[in-house]
Amino acid sequence: MKKLKDKELCKLVKDDALEESLNAFCKLLRDPTHVCLKCGRASNDKKRLCKPQSMES
Ligand SMILES: [Zn+2]
Repeated sequence: MKKLKDKELCKLVKDDALEESLNAFCKLLRDPTHVCLKCGRASNDKKRLCKPQSMES
């Protein structure tokens, strides 16, 4: 199992890391706490988003 590079999900997708490391990628999408205002992606680790915004209101 390849380890995900320490980059934003937004960039990893462009690098085809999603296909290579799907399991690791999915872990970051579980129970998301933040959404990326730029790309609309969601993650439970705000450091993985290029423009994170908390989902909690
Ligand atoms: Zn983004």
